[in-house]
Amino acid sequence: MSEKPFPFLKFPRALPREIAIPIRVVGFGEIHADFADGDAGDQASRCIDCGNPYCSWACPLGNRIPQWLKLVRDGRIDDAATLMHETNPLPEICGRVCPQDRLCEGDCTLEEGFGAVTIGAIERSITDEALRRGWRPSPAPSTTDKRVAIVGAGPAGLAAADRLVRAGVAVDVFDRYEEIGGLLTFGIPPFKLEKSVVRTRRAVLEELGVRFRLGVDIGRDLAFDAIVADYDAVFVATGAYRFVDARLPGQDLAGVHAALPFLIANARHLLGTAAAGDVLPDLAGKRVVVLGGGDTAMDCVRTAVRLGAARVTCAYRRDEANMPGSRKEVKNAKDEGVIFRFQAQPLSITGNGTVDGVEIAETRLVADNNGRARAEIVEGSAQVIPADIVILSFGFLPSPDDWFETSGIGTDASGRVEVGGNTRLPYQTANPKVFAGGDTVRGADLVVRAVLDGREAAKAILGRLGVIA
Ligand SMILES: Cc1cc2nc3c(=O)[nH]c(=O)nc-3n(C[C@H](O)[C@H](O)[C@H](O)COP(=O)(O)OP(=O)(O)OC[C@H]3O[C@@H](n4cnc5c(N)ncnc54)[C@H](O)[C@@H]3O)c2cc1C
Ligand code: SF4
Repeated sequence: MSEKPFPFLKFPRALPREIAIPIRVVGFGEIHADFADGDAGDQASRCIDCGNPYCSWACPLGNRIPQWLKLVRDGRIDDAATLMHETNPLPEICGRVCPQDRLCEGDCTLEEGFGAVTIGAIERSITDEALRRGWRPSPAPSTTDKRVAIVGAGPAGLAAADRLVRAGVAVDVFDRYEEIGGLLTFGIPPFKLEKSVVRTRRAVLEELGVRFRLGVDIGRDLAFDAIVADYDAVFVATGAYRFVDARLPGQDLAGVHAALPFLIANARHLLGTAAAGDVLPDLAGKRVVVLGGGDTAMDCVRTAVRLGAARVTCAYRRDEANMPGSRKEVKNAKDEGVIFRFQAQPLSITGNGTVDGVEIAETRLVADNNGRARAEIVEGSAQVIPADIVILSFGFLPSPDDWFETSGIGTDASGRVEVGGNTRLPYQTANPKVFAGGDTVRGADLVVRAVLDGREAAKAILGRLGVIA
């Protein structure tokens, strides 16, 4: 018998050490420390290399997970980082923010009975370590005379920039914000993704030759058509920012806030770049109610805890099993003291000038035609949850800019940019010089799928420009 017949039995599934709850809720740092020495290798050795890598199929990027787990097990950190970057331009970021339970780890053969390999935590920690040690993605072997502009420095734009610059194309990335990252910086709070991680990635991309032109709002500070004329191709990755308006009676009362402006104001206060319009409500000692059940709602409740709220409640109209948010985030919120009111449909926000509560009704769940649970109100069940602050988090819709239409970028009825199809290259819009991807094409989605779009759109652009990557 070999020395370690079943490493997945010898080493139970383990994430890096979690910071104790009373400590983590008084600051905004990430809630997991690094793996202790050797632990990433032990965890990687749990992979049984099952032959049909369900994890890779479930990863939108098709990451070669069993292969890099083997390299990590053997201590070949730089080789593992190189292999990770072949499919994923932002592995340290996806390792932190992907809902792994619904993607790679959810399909790991060990998940049933033994606990999935901690793929996300290994991807994050190995990339962090390789970058700390000075490892870098390989630069372009030679440069070309091609120039591409990217509008939007979120994950889709960053992934495209990585692929294009490493193929020898000159890349300028424009963004209206003062820092790169899009929602990685201004939406996702630091306890899920510390902003130093995004700054490190910025430095890596700048070393490769990417130029960031920040604080430039395309359409206001610079005409989009001028960019189209100036560059060989343009990639539009401007995200989805129009919030779903539930039109609740009372939503205009003082003390009612929309989720994203609240998170952006908090991010900017932490970054020290808050502007006059970034209103961060004082939550200290207050009763906060967040309406919604997605990842953004989880970010709001956990931010409210850290801002000193006395009591934080999340009200969601379906049950826990039907929440759109990642299970790990719901667990983290519960651990941090958030109270969940499931099957609670908000009816109105109450108050006289200033909010004092949220009227909710109980719901019963009925399967709709698509098999999804529909929430029906139980008559006579209305009650009020007292609240000093209410945060609305019902999701986001595409937010097409005015210049989409004037520049020949077609959108569908819901505002999503239309790309590809039978007569165009993948990710190509109705304007042949312009490509698009990420949330602006999909509607509000995930970081990893924005990265996929950036990577694949870059491939299509290189094809159009005749550059061999
Ligand atoms: C609060 C919150 C939490 C989330 N948490 C998670 C999570 O945990 N895991 C996960 O996978 N996904 C999460 N998501 C979703 C994820 O962040 C997005 O799917 C992803 O960021 C989309 O990437 P993108 O590059 O398409 O757009 P964005 O990240 O939105 O980037 C678009 C960029 O374009 C810029 N821009 C827009 N218009 C212009 C213009 N006219 N001129 C110049 N610049 C412009 C914006 O400033 C922005 O920087 C979350 C979303 C939110 C809102
Ligand atoms: S990119 Fe996301 S889904 Fe893919 S392996 Fe990494 S954590 Fe899993």
